Amino acid sequence: TKGAAMVTAVASRVQAQRKQIDKVLALFQLTREQLIGVQDKMRTELEYGLKKKTHALATVKMLPTYVYGMPDGTEKGKFLALDLGGTNFRVLLVKIRSGRKSVRMYNKIFAIPLEIMQGTGEELFDHIVQCIADFLDYMGLKGVQLPLGFTFSFPCRQTCIDKGTLVGWTKGFKATDCEGEDVVDMLREAIKRRNEFDLDIVAIVNDTVGTMMTCGYEDPNCEIGLIAGTGSNVCYMEEMRNIELVEGDEGRMCINTEWGAFGDNGCIDDICTQYDKEVDEGSLNSGKQRYEKMTSGMYLGEIVRQILIDLTRQGLLFRGQISQRLRTRGIFETKFLSQIESDRLALLQVRRILQQLGLDSTCEDSIVVKEVCGAVSRRAAQLCGAGMAAIVEKRREDQGLEHFKVTVGVDGTLYKLHPHFSRILQETVKDLAPQCDVTFMLSEDGSGKGAALITAVAKRLQQQGKE
Ligand code: BGC
Ligand code: MG
Repeated sequence: TKGAAMVTAVASRVQAQRKQIDKVLALFQLTREQLIGVQDKMRTELEYGLKKKTHALATVKMLPTYVYGMPDGTEKGKFLALDLGGTNFRVLLVKIRSGRKSVRMYNKIFAIPLEIMQGTGEELFDHIVQCIADFLDYMGLKGVQLPLGFTFSFPCRQTCIDKGTLVGWTKGFKATDCEGEDVVDMLREAIKRRNEFDLDIVAIVNDTVGTMMTCGYEDPNCEIGLIAGTGSNVCYMEEMRNIELVEGDEGRMCINTEWGAFGDNGCIDDICTQYDKEVDEGSLNSGKQRYEKMTSGMYLGEIVRQILIDLTRQGLLFRGQISQRLRTRGIFETKFLSQIESDRLALLQVRRILQQLGLDSTCEDSIVVKEVCGAVSRRAAQLCGAGMAAIVEKRREDQGLEHFKVTVGVDGTLYKLHPHFSRILQETVKDLAPQCDVTFMLSEDGSGKGAALITAVAKRLQQQGKE
């Protein structure tokens, strides 16, 4: 009959649509072989970055940090710390007590307006110093000269603990006249320009290093730091003899891998999708930080948005209507992705979140959106896991160990807020590096506390040097 024919027609249309959706989702489902491929390539790039001969051309820069070891618990004193480059800009006062190893912190979050993130370098550093001034006023500390540690979460080439030349901006920053400059000098000059107070800038620290330090303060097995947040990066303790860029063969030094740039030479193009390319092209640093753009909070929502636009264009979502809202960059922040993917959330609530984002969805739409988010974040966690597997396997082999037990200090909004990211990351590492026993330890406020700890160590060494 006619009715039955219509039902069949609708059913087969639904089926065809489902096929189209699955085809898109499949692009994000990596096989075990593909993940092993990523792990192997990461391993190769790590070695290139460390070696003198290949360093200049290497994409993963493996930057020496001049941090030689963990705090030993004797550190003490009051320190200022700055934390720039994560979700928030903060100024902190950190009080460290030796013996009981207690750390107390006071901090204030300041906004950095977009015009300043993407204005001139001078404006950016003047703004930072303005925030420090506000904080010192607020805490009643004006005139007190405290040692300062600067957590600066961007790639920096260092020659000592208190010098760092910015290699290139990443994430949402693009201030002019900073690349190739020493950012510690830029901060000192901005303090001079203001001519209101003096600060003793002792250390510049990547957030991964601060995170590793904070965990290392409590767990002696910690020798790796991971950030899975706005950006993505890892640091770890490497044998000096393997660091060809720095003289000396004794002991170890922390290497800031800057693994976010993995893939910038095209080595993982085979797993990149058209959506990844669109996200890259629409970013502030097109062609750069390709792995970061597949694994970190600043970009996952953008990948999701590109997929949703495409599915809508194919008539598979939102009744085929691409709203102005959907065309807007940055609408899917990490916290929304995390909410949408929460298992406890009913679909009606997913629809409500989409509503909040200005997207009118049907129940079917909300199912598809949730699937898209799941595919993108799952791939991110797996790729991050493949990278981590490369690091721990390298460390295991370098030490000639059958089994390697290690703790990774972790921080970052994606790791902390997302309902599945950390689990999938850990499962992947376990699968790809079965001879390593890797414990992930959340570092509460790693970047701020860590900067203070490193400053404390550096200050102690400075004073020992003077004596
Ligand atoms: C930066 C790294 C930083 C990471 C996490 C990346 O974009 O290049 O230096 O550690 O983000 O904040
Ligand atoms: Mg941070």
